[in-house]
Formats: sequence, C-alpha cells, structure tokens
Amino acid sequence: MNMKKIHIIGAGLAGPEAALQAASLGCQVVLSEMRPLRSTEAHQTADFAELVCSNSLKSESENTAPWLLKKEMRRAGSFLLQAADSSAVPAGHALAVDRIEFSRRVADLIAAQPRIEVRREEVTSLTSNDDLITVLASGPLTSSPLAQELERLTGAGQLAFYDSISPIVDASTIDMDKVYFAARWDKGSADYLNCPFTKEEYDAFLDALTSAETVQAHSWDTPPSDPSAAPSPAPLAYFEGCLPIEETARRGRDTLRFGPMKPAGLTNPRTGRWPYAAVQLRKENLRADSYNLVGFQNHLRFGEQARVLRMIPGLEHASFLRYGQIHRNTYIHAPSLLRQTLQLRSHPGILIAGQLSGVEGYTESIASGLLAGRYAAALARGIQPEPAPRLTANGSLTYYITHADAKRFQPANITFDLLPPLEDDLRRKVRDKKERHRIQCERALAAWDQWLTNAAQPTP
Ligand SMILES: Cc1cc2nc3c(=O)[nH]c(=O)nc-3n(C[C@H](O)[C@H](O)[C@H](O)COP(=O)(O)OP(=O)(O)OC[C@H]3O[C@@H](n4cnc5c(N)ncnc54)[C@H](O)[C@@H]3O)c2cc1C
Repeated sequence: MNMKKIHIIGAGLAGPEAALQAASLGCQVVLSEMRPLRSTEAHQTADFAELVCSNSLKSESENTAPWLLKKEMRRAGSFLLQAADSSAVPAGHALAVDRIEFSRRVADLIAAQPRIEVRREEVTSLTSNDDLITVLASGPLTSSPLAQELERLTGAGQLAFYDSISPIVDASTIDMDKVYFAARWDKGSADYLNCPFTKEEYDAFLDALTSAETVQAHSWDTPPSDPSAAPSPAPLAYFEGCLPIEETARRGRDTLRFGPMKPAGLTNPRTGRWPYAAVQLRKENLRADSYNLVGFQNHLRFGEQARVLRMIPGLEHASFLRYGQIHRNTYIHAPSLLRQTLQLRSHPGILIAGQLSGVEGYTESIASGLLAGRYAAALARGIQPEPAPRLTANGSLTYYITHADAKRFQPANITFDLLPPLEDDLRRKVRDKKERHRIQCERALAAWDQWLTNAAQPTP
C-alpha cells in the first residue's frame, strides 16, 4: 500500500509523542525542531520534550481527572509517559520527573525508532498536499513566521497570542444561601448566579485585591512586537478588552462597580433591591457543575487568588477548578477550525496538536500528541480516523476544544467538568462526589479500551 509520509513540526511534548505513535504504527515520520538554531523565550536547551517550567505531570491519585487522562494514555502505550515513569522523582501524589533524564529518555526513544528522521530546522511554510500529512505541534511559543503562515491558512483573527483566563469554581462549593439567580433587567433566562456585596464587603474586597501579590512578569509575557529581537523584560502590555481585574480595580474605587461588578438590574430576591456590587458567575457551556467568574481574568499568584476570591459573598468555602491567568500563549480558535480528529477543517491533511490546539498543560499536550499521532497514522493509510469517545478524558478534552462556545473559547486542562456528567437518576442516587468520579473513571476506561480495539485504528 502507498502510505503517505508524516511531517511533525515541533519536538516539545506533543511532537515527539505524535512521532513515536505514528512510527510505531508503521509510518515514516520527519520530525522538525528549530532549536538550537532558533530558540523560544522559555526554552533553555536544545533537548526534546523540554519542560519549560515546573517538573510535574500532575496527580497520580486514583480517580482524579489527571490520573484518568494518564491512565488512558498508558493503556494506549504513551511513549512520553513511559519516559516520565522511568525518570520519576518522589513528589507525593504527583508524577514529577527529573527533567534532564526525562528529555534524555525521550531522545533515546526517538533515536531507537528507525522510521523517524529528525531535522533541526525552523519550518516557516505549511504545504497542504495529497502525499503528506502534517502535524503542527509548535507550541505556545510558535515562531513568528510559522504563526503568520498558520494565520494565512486559517484566516485572520483565528490565532490568539495571549491567554486571558477567568477562574472557575466548583458549583458544589458555592454557598447557595448567599447567592441568587438573576438575569440583568430580567432580560433572558436567569442563567447567572450573582454574588451580592454590601458596601463594607466591597471596600474590604477592593483593598485585598489591589494589595494582593501578582505573578512576576516574564519576558515571554511581553507582546511579540519585533519577533527577531531578543525578549526584553518590559512591563506587561494588555489588550484593553482583557485587562486583569486587579488593574481595573486600581483605576478608581468605583471602577469595578461600574464595570465587571456592576449591580444595576440585578435585583436580589431576598432584599428586593440591587446590591452595592455583584460578581456574576456564568455556567460553563460544556462544563457541568462549574461556574466561571465573569471578567475576573487576573495575574495574581494562585494562593492570593484563593484568599481574595474567597472574600466574595457565597465563595467563602469555594474550591477553584482553575485559577485566573494571563500569559503569552499562541493557540488557534479550535471550535471553528478543528475537527474532533484534530484535522483543520479547511485543510484536513494538517493536524494541530499540543498547546497550539487549545489544550493547556504538559500532560494534556502529550495526550493530544498521542491522539494526533494515531489519527495521522490512520490518515497516512487513507483511513478517516474515529475520534476518541466523549466519555473518556482524552475524548472529552478534544470534544471541549472543538465544541466550546466559540465566542468565549479559552484553553482547557483536564478536569471532571469536561466529562459528561452522570445521568440525573444516578446523580440522585450517588451523593458522594468521590464515588461519582469513580464511576465516571470506570465508564471512561471501558469506553477507551473499546475505542482502542474497535476504532478504525491502524495496527503496526
Ligand atoms: C512559559 C511557560 C511556562 C509553562 N509552564 C507550564 C507548567 O509549569 N506546567 C504545565 O503543565 N504547563 C506549562 N506550560 C504550558 C504547556 O504545557 C507547555 O508549553 C508545553 O510545553 C506545551 O507542549 P507543546 O508540545 O504544545 O509545545 P512545546 O513543548 O513548546 O513544543 C513546541 C516545540 O516546537 C518548536 N518550534 C516552534 N516553532 C517552530 C518552528 N517554526 N519550526 C520548528 N520547530 C518549532 C519549539 O522550539 C518547541 O520545541 C507553560 C507554557 C509556557 C509558555
């Protein structure tokens, strides 16, 4: 059979996993990596699979969402997890690795795979031709010429260069006796939960917010004004539309009350009046059991966020599924551009993997590389791949990025709220959250195993 070649761009986390998966399924792979010829603002070596910041691949505690994601990946023979397991260092319930050893093991796996040809080159153009499958895994710091090329292929405005993420709170930890559902001016359905502030509460919150410790600005957070220039530690520049909440708060004591914390039209049924200020919580479309703090993207340290956000009435005991963040991050608008098989809708011979596809995190990037490698191997043989099932952690993550609300798309890491919730009758029966998660994991693994054996998967 005439098999197409596979070109994988980027040898960070997603790229090597995709390359090893596709090669192990019998495909010829070219893996292009621009380092050391050109580096990024965050990488420090020329190594494959360099972990640019922490060395943690998250929790190994049974029946947690990161555990499930890894469990599925291990069952699918993830090469990078194999390298991680054999370079693990003690880290309690988390999988943490010796980063040098991890990269060395990944390099060894690639060197031992005769079907992978490594090229140290910066890729600047993308060809869409019938004889080639391309997996673009060039990451959140994709070089400028390649980002421009991707923009040319996908159309203007389909590429984001910053993450501006609001915190997400676990719905079951909100004090429902303090908050209330209401639509502003009673227009539309009352989908928002409102956290009402008195003047005293607002003043205390404002003081805490403006004096909280922020994350230090890194050079990679500065805007890419001149891509060829060395990154300089200039102050952070934000788009006016996604200012961090603490910046808005510094503009005046009432700025928040007339902006993201505007109370007008939000009548509190308990008092019959508008509160002094309000934080609105919006149910995430595809995230069951969780709420987004509207307009609360911020640059505070995570510990500080936990402290300050718990001053919001109703969130005193909140558990946060995700904290707010703002940092440089190149990613595509997956809901409009990507199929569930990670293929570009407009150019099905090009797949996007890793952080560039809109997933967030080391493990998630490796996971999407694993899927992309398997999908690419199927496409190389002329088979249209079957996407990973929605019931699974891997499938849910891809389902989320490709089906999220297009207007409010933000990158995601794996959490239980991305998985389909249990049916109502089962939810009523099983009150314990841990037990619910256990059932979700059990269902996910069964669906994953079936997909691995039944899907139109190529075999070596
Ligand atoms: C500063 C920073 C810190 C982060 N910290 C964490 C963290 O602590 N924990 C966590 O879970 N996640 C973190 N992330 C998010 C994410 O998990 C990592 O960025 C992860 O490395 C993404 O994997 P990837 O394979 O998509 O991209 P990368 O690992 O960045 O790999 C992309 C590769 O493509 C190469 N490349 C780029 N352009 C080209 C080109 N034109 N031609 C050829 N090669 C090219 C790059 O050199 C790089 O090697 C961080 C991200 C950033 C930017």
